[in-house]
Order: sequence, then structure tokens, then C-alpha cells
Amino acid sequence: MGASAKFIDAVSRTGALDVSLKMKRSPPVILMYHGVTAARPAAGPVANCEGKHLALDIFAEHLRILRRTRRVVPLHEMVEGLARGEARDNEVALTFDDGYENNATVAAPLLADFRMPAAFFLTTGLVGTAEAIWTDKVEMAFDRTAKTTLHLRATDETLPLHTPQERRQAMLRTKAVLKRLPTPDFHHAFATILHALGDPDTAPSGDYRFMSWDQARAMSDAGFEMGAHTVTHPILSRMPFEQAAHEMLSSRDRVTQETGACSSTFCFPNGKSSDYTQELLDLCQQHFKAALSTERGPALPGELLTLRRLSPSGAGRGENIQWMLLRAR
Ligand SMILES: [Zn+2]
Repeated sequence: MGASAKFIDAVSRTGALDVSLKMKRSPPVILMYHGVTAARPAAGPVANCEGKHLALDIFAEHLRILRRTRRVVPLHEMVEGLARGEARDNEVALTFDDGYENNATVAAPLLADFRMPAAFFLTTGLVGTAEAIWTDKVEMAFDRTAKTTLHLRATDETLPLHTPQERRQAMLRTKAVLKRLPTPDFHHAFATILHALGDPDTAPSGDYRFMSWDQARAMSDAGFEMGAHTVTHPILSRMPFEQAAHEMLSSRDRVTQETGACSSTFCFPNGKSSDYTQELLDLCQQHFKAALSTERGPALPGELLTLRRLSPSGAGRGENIQWMLLRAR
């Protein structure tokens, strides 16, 4: 344990962080999760190495900390407040991106125990299928390949795959390179990379699986907010506008059709400021009340279409969320 981790540990054992959190007024915060996993260990050296799926005991610790120190409100309630220009202190909204099955089987039951609301944004082309999201296919391919090197044609570099560390590095590099490509080039490069890795099986298992529409309906019926996160999870700014508009609106229509309602907040895939265009924000304004980005920060009334979030995923300890909330401004 490093010096700062020791300090955090010591402070949190005294309860001082809780006291500070209760005392300090902070702007509204939207927390971004992807999954909560009850499975350990991970499927391979690459699986979940970015902490996309938080361990169940850590997620439970987050909820206990939030219950003691913050007011967790439904996302739509926070958005309505922000639309009126109100940024109410110490409010937190919980969001989950993508639509993983563990949202339905692990996260939602715990949230229900805590009587806490949350919003779940679905990649509608993957819900109810045995398909994986492309980024997870990349992870599975690096966990399962028998190859010992990969040549990335897009950047003309050769990545070694001998050790678990090298596989993780190569996976991260490959995702980063693929995310930069315009959509037609992306599809070709993605297929080429999987082929170069020996076309390993990328059928999702465990935490890579997506929920079914029955599970999504049950969550909606239980009062959770279900929202649109595109059909195929592309980076919308890398594709023609018409195609991007279809990704946004048909995912909204599918959520409405399947669950009877859809969140009036849209959630941008990847969600950095370079991942959407002004044209897409204008479209968003016509069809939604708000949209979520993945840029870091509190939720501000002036940023309704590019709401910032904080991501406690990957945080190894419950205490990290206390620091994250203390420093939100
Ligand atoms: Zn996503």
C-alpha cells in the first residue's frame, strides 16, 4: 500500500471522510457504472482489467456510503431540476451504461434492497442476443488467442503477447487505435485484427453477456429508468450523420417498444467531447431532454446535452468514492 492509500485508509477508519462528506456541500453528481460482478476471479488476464465491472462488495460499500452521506435521486428528477436551472447540493444519480446482464442479476437486486433509483442505458442491438459489444470482443480475443504477437496495420506496429501484462497493453492499444478510425475503416480493421489473432471465439460468457428484454422489462416494471445508448455502440462522430441519427432514435424507439417507456436522457457511446458533433447535439435537443457524456465533473445546468459524470468503476476501494465526491466541483 502506498503512502496516499495508507493515509486514505487511516482517515476513512476514523469516519472523518463521512463527516467531511456530510458537512461539505457539493454540486449534483451523476455516477457512471457499467457492471457489477459477483464472479471472481476474472476469466483471464485481460478480462475486466479496466475495472468496467465493479466487485459486488465494493458496489455495496458505495451504496452504504451514499446512503449515509448523499441523497440518491432518480436521474430524470435531477435532469428536470437542472433544466429549471437548479443544481441541488449533495444530490447523486446512478447510471449504468451498455446493458450487461449483471445489471439485472447483480446490481438491480442490491439497488432494490437499498431502495435506490438508477438509470440503465441499453445498447439495443445487443440486448436479448448472444452477441458481445465490440470492445469486449477485443478483450476476449486477447484472452483467448494462441498467437504470440499482433501486427497492427493501421499504425504499422507489432505488439508482443507473451505475458499477461503484454496482452493487457496490446488490448488497450488495439482498442485505442480502433476507436480513432472512421466507421467503414473500423469494420475492416476490426475483422482483420480478429483474424490475425486466429479468430478466437468471441461469444460472450459471464460478465460479457447482455441482459434479455424480459430482464429489461422487469427492471422497468420495478421502477428503474431504462434509456437509449444506440443500437450497436459506435462512436457517433465517426459515421455519417444519417446513420448516427438512426443509431440514436431507433435505440430510443426499441426501448420504448420493449419496456413501455424510455428515459428522456440519451447516453453517448464512449462519450468524450470528440465523440459527438454539434449536429448530433442539435438532434439530441429535438428528441431528448438531456444527454450524458463521459467527461469528468459534476452535473451542471448549463451542460444539459453533455452532462459530465464521475466513474467509480475500477476504484479498488469503497473509500475512493468518498474522495471522488469530496473533490467534485
Ligand atoms: Zn457504452
